Amino acid sequence: MIQRLSLLTEIPYETIYELTLRSYEKTIFEQSNTTNKQKWVLPLGIYHRTWTNNGLQFCPVCLSKDEEPYFRKSWRLGLSVACTKCNTLLHDCCPNCNSPVTFFRSDVGFKYTVSANTIATCWQCGFDIRNSFRYPTVIGTIGYQTKINTIIKTKHWQDRCPSNEYFDALYQILKFLRSTSPWYRHFVELIMSYENLRIRSLPTKHEFEKFNTIEREISLRIACWILEEWPHRFINLCKESKLTTSIVLKDTQSLPPWFITVANDHLHLPSASEKSIMRMQAKKQKH
Ligand SMILES: [Zn+2]
Ligand SMILES: [Zn+2]
Repeated sequence: MIQRLSLLTEIPYETIYELTLRSYEKTIFEQSNTTNKQKWVLPLGIYHRTWTNNGLQFCPVCLSKDEEPYFRKSWRLGLSVACTKCNTLLHDCCPNCNSPVTFFRSDVGFKYTVSANTIATCWQCGFDIRNSFRYPTVIGTIGYQTKINTIIKTKHWQDRCPSNEYFDALYQILKFLRSTSPWYRHFVELIMSYENLRIRSLPTKHEFEKFNTIEREISLRIACWILEEWPHRFINLCKESKLTTSIVLKDTQSLPPWFITVANDHLHLPSASEKSIMRMQAKKQKH
């Protein structure tokens, strides 16, 4: 597909590749998945020739500044909740009729001509989404959105690790935050008790990618905060809420080695048999 487009348009293969979500391979996920749902990418819910999910977000300010409006690649990511240039929250649907943004539908019915509407016009209700309300962001949101954008851009989390490892750890923390399992109840309650985090509740849907922008904003803000001051904040929170190694490392396919090491070294609770071995060793050392 990319090769064919490159041939037809005479645009270099790499330039077109950079426009696709596959270009996030090894940056936010290991491998792109064309058949199933893709981690971090908002699902479109393709049904016949339309999209049923709010899988494409937009910044109304960016769109109104564009000479020819266009949708940015990053607006398809669950990791994007705010525009750092315009200091505003992204929208994930038409604010006038709540329909998903399906700009290509504007051309339906125009077989031989092109619709006079721009791609910034809602196909359902005709609202110009450039005029959408500009939501100011919560304090802290622009800070962590900038941090996420930098990690994606530099493909590294500071000088600690490759970016995909950071995002794997972040994904695991997000699982704790939305879990309804009793194991994580204390963990979530503890986080909510921090007044400066300003949260009353955390969303608990099964999939992070199905959260709306506001829900992702809250969850990402907290998950990024937990990974700050690594590993001390994470260890303290887990210890205080009695999360052990086995719970923290549960149900995961890929976790970075530094995350596993911290969980093994700091959160492990010895079993009864391990405790008796340790007691015997302590006795031996005394003699
Ligand atoms: Zn913007
Ligand atoms: Zn609409």
